[in-house]
Amino acid sequence: MTMRDGNSAATAGMLFVVATPIGNLDDLSARARATLADVDLIAAEDTRHSAALLRHCGIATRCIALHEHNEREASDDLVRQMLAGKRIALISDAGTPLISDPGFRLVRAARAAGIAVSPLPGACAAIAALSVAGLPSDRFVFEGFLPSKSAARRAHLQSLRSETRTLIFYESSHRIIEALDDFIAVFGAEREAVLARELTKLFETVLGGTLGELAARVVADPDQQRGEFVLLVAGAQTDADSARLAEGRRVFELLRHELPPGRAAKLAAAISGAPRNQLYGVEPAAEV
Ligand code: SAM
Repeated sequence: MTMRDGNSAATAGMLFVVATPIGNLDDLSARARATLADVDLIAAEDTRHSAALLRHCGIATRCIALHEHNEREASDDLVRQMLAGKRIALISDAGTPLISDPGFRLVRAARAAGIAVSPLPGACAAIAALSVAGLPSDRFVFEGFLPSKSAARRAHLQSLRSETRTLIFYESSHRIIEALDDFIAVFGAEREAVLARELTKLFETVLGGTLGELAARVVADPDQQRGEFVLLVAGAQTDADSARLAEGRRVFELLRHELPPGRAAKLAAAISGAPRNQLYGVEPAAEV
């Protein structure tokens, strides 16, 4: 354990970890823009990619590359520069650096050297998706990208089968159908999920339903296979959830002989605390 406080730097050098937009360029904060214009150097995952954002903002700060293949050497050099008093900003291609993006080694090395590291928070696809998914958000697990090979992916998903917190995954367009198949194979077609695609962009879509419904929707519509995805999967039910559901179904069966099914489900849900859509019918994969 280090006793050093990352914010009490021994030097004037400093590292800013700056979130950039995940689609809509207007999501860059005013403070991020000012910081990127003001620092001595920007360490960017891909300098050519970031040039478009910086040009758009009229920022002319010098950029150097810091990506997964050079992070160790580049970090040593950047730490030396910060110890000599330079103020450096770290950005990735999109969203928050370090979140399924490079930067961990640099931040760790900077903090170990006593350099102040300050966040400029902003877009993060996982949090943006969670904020609109309508799945429990009090506790969640960020899993990032799954293994690219199906066998490894299924093995990893098996280890998450009983996780009760909401699960968040990143997925790319060329694997989305295969990945949904693996989710169904491991979690079952009935597990509730949300697929958030192209957030903050022109074709933003947020689909909610069971894993089976989402897979059917994506397979049937090539448009839903394009772009960038966050997949959120509801956590496994706890024993208390299962007991509520069993009670809800029992009450629903009693009431449905006396009342229209929708009304019976509403009352059974209110009496038992079970989710109404698990008592009567399941809403089809719908934009939520
Ligand atoms: N650092 C980024 C962040 O803070 O979200 C994530 C970088 S990771 C290399 C890229 C992945 O994030 C994509 O493959 C996709 O799963 C997700 N992602 C990024 N932008 C997105 C968007 N606009 N809509 C949906 N998912 C997005």
